[in-house]
Amino acid sequence: MTDLEKKPFVTKGQLDEIVKKYPTPFHLYDERGIRENAARLREAFSWNKGFKEYFAVKATPNPHILKILQECGCGTDCSSATELMLSDAAGFSGREIMFSSNNTPEGEFKLADDMGAVINLDDITHIESLEKELGRIPEVISCRFNPGGIFEISNGIMDNPGDAKYGMTTEQIFQAFRILKEKGAREFGIHAFLVSNTVTNDYYPMLAKVLFELAVKLKEETGVHIGFINLSGGIGVAYRPDQEPNDIAVIGRGVKKVYEEVLTPAGMGDVAIYTELGRFMLAPYGCLVAEAIHEKHTYKEYIGLDACAVDLMRPAMYGAYHHITVMGKEDAPCSHKYDITGSLCENNDKFAVDRMLPEIEMGDLLVIHDTGAHGYSMGYNYNGKLRSAELLLREDGTVQMIRRAETPQDYFATLDGCEMMEKYLKASEKEG
Ligand SMILES: *Cc1c(COP(=O)(O)O)cnc(C)c1O
Repeated sequence: MTDLEKKPFVTKGQLDEIVKKYPTPFHLYDERGIRENAARLREAFSWNKGFKEYFAVKATPNPHILKILQECGCGTDCSSATELMLSDAAGFSGREIMFSSNNTPEGEFKLADDMGAVINLDDITHIESLEKELGRIPEVISCRFNPGGIFEISNGIMDNPGDAKYGMTTEQIFQAFRILKEKGAREFGIHAFLVSNTVTNDYYPMLAKVLFELAVKLKEETGVHIGFINLSGGIGVAYRPDQEPNDIAVIGRGVKKVYEEVLTPAGMGDVAIYTELGRFMLAPYGCLVAEAIHEKHTYKEYIGLDACAVDLMRPAMYGAYHHITVMGKEDAPCSHKYDITGSLCENNDKFAVDRMLPEIEMGDLLVIHDTGAHGYSMGYNYNGKLRSAELLLREDGTVQMIRRAETPQDYFATLDGCEMMEKYLKASEKEG
């Protein structure tokens, strides 16, 4: 089933009301969509007793969103101290937190361990850092695997793990398990993240086969107890209207089949499956809402929005496609070819290039789809641009601001002690 229309989760009527109170641009999240999707994921893996999704905090680092996911049975996957702090503040603790860092700064293993998080080691040399920081090796430990080479599925090459900075080689993970076991680890996990944004139902089952076979060998050769296998992130979403979205039920069944073929016969039918999905959990349930504020007719036709790449970096960074709906013109013919731009002094600050859309008038509201993950969170402050607000459309139809827009004072705040900026820093005290 393709979603050729790609309808926004919010109506023009709702948005007209929302913008009266909250000025554009803003990211808007759909609580109902988030909950329904999380329930579909849980159902797809309900055959596995220990299944747990650890939401990748980097995708949408807002504690209000994390809380909703927690209510849906999810934990969090963190890779930095601040992500750990966000998880802690949102009420996650112990085995609800996975710490999958790489090139880990000093002190972060300790912070993760203090919260009781499960630590997932990216490299064999991290065993030493971990032991130095904690004075011991935790009883529960996970290691990240990188099979190297290229990763292929039935319809071709997916990615090139041999070029990725993450994970341990086969030889290293065997050695790491032996060392960790000797140092007192009792429950082991295996983790791998080989391909991002896959739009195929085959990725997880293929990855599962690689990891399950590795798990059997690791158990046989090192004698460790493998408690969980973490398939991590990488299930993608259909950003384009002509793409066939993933079917999580089919993916869950695909993993189950491999589990029963590889793990169950090896006497490992008690291994829990973990996931660390970010994009799949949130991307379609967020959108960036912006207003058309300028039109320009030169060698091309341009529409300028009040949002820019600091609100959504993916098009500038990866040339990523994000579908756009001109609100109120859903049924109008796509008769105009536009570049939809932001206001950065960077020519890649374009939400769309040569996009066929209905005729846009100044003041029209545009919905940029699928920004719920890796959207706001990738934001930055280039050109002194300030990041937008985040709003939550609740299940009852009300709207809650879950992060205010940045102010110039936020931007200047780290210049503290700089007298030149006094005048602008004081402004915030008056307002506040
Ligand atoms: C980014 C990341 C994820 C989430 O990836 P998605 O593509 O959003 O599913 C999960 N685990 C780790 C370790 C990551 O770095």
